[in-house]
Order: sequence, then structure tokens, then C-alpha cells
Amino acid sequence: MTIFDLFEKYGLQNCKINPVEVFDDITFEELRTKESEYILNNPCINKQNPKPITPQEYKNRKKEYYRNVIKADPEKLKKLCVKAKQWIEKNGQGVFQCECGDTYTYKHKARHYQSIRHKTKMEKINQTI
Ligand SMILES: [Zn+2]
Repeated sequence: MTIFDLFEKYGLQNCKINPVEVFDDITFEELRTKESEYILNNPCINKQNPKPITPQEYKNRKKEYYRNVIKADPEKLKKLCVKAKQWIEKNGQGVFQCECGDTYTYKHKARHYQSIRHKTKMEKINQTI
């Protein structure tokens, strides 16, 4: 559920937005930190946290996530690695046909999509449609 779902369901005129706290002299960064605290410590429909996490926090969360995955099923990571390896062995060496008419390999897919050649060909295709 989002705030827009509430607006749609009850009508914007029937919704009342109350400030939870008012600040007089605060920097934008401090404001984001405060908002982040409210989002983390209260039931909230905001899906995105305004305060981005640091790379170290991200690493720690990732570690924690995989620890929990391993705890739940010790074989799961091994299975996923084997599956990914098999997929790359099967598809990684192949040549793919792009909708622009060109070809690319799995490793260079992103580079191809960003290339000027792909973009100009796609523009021409889109103009003819
Ligand atoms: Zn292409």
C-alpha cells in the first residue's frame, strides 16, 4: 500500500496530513536522518528510506542476509552457485541476436545496449513503426 492508494480509496480531500515534528533550524541532511528514524522506528507505508546506507552498512546487511540464508538451508548457496555456473556455461559463450539487427555476446550485452550503433539503429526502427 502507498499513500496514493489511500488518496485514491478515500479521496484526497478526506485525507489529513499531520506533521509529526516541526524543526526551525535544521540542515537537509539532519532532516533526512530524522525522517529515516521515523520510518525505521514506526509502522510506515514509505517504501524508500530517505537516508541512504553507507557501503559498510550495505556489506554488513548483505553478510547478515547470506548468514540467514545459510542458516535456513546450508545447501542453498551451493545449489544457486551450481545453477548460475551451469547457466553461464550454457548461455555465456553464445551469440545473441539483438532486436536492432546486430549481435552481442552475453558478457557484452550491457555495452551493446549503450552503444551508439544500437541506439541509432533502434531510433531508425522506432521511426519506421
Ligand atoms: Zn542492438
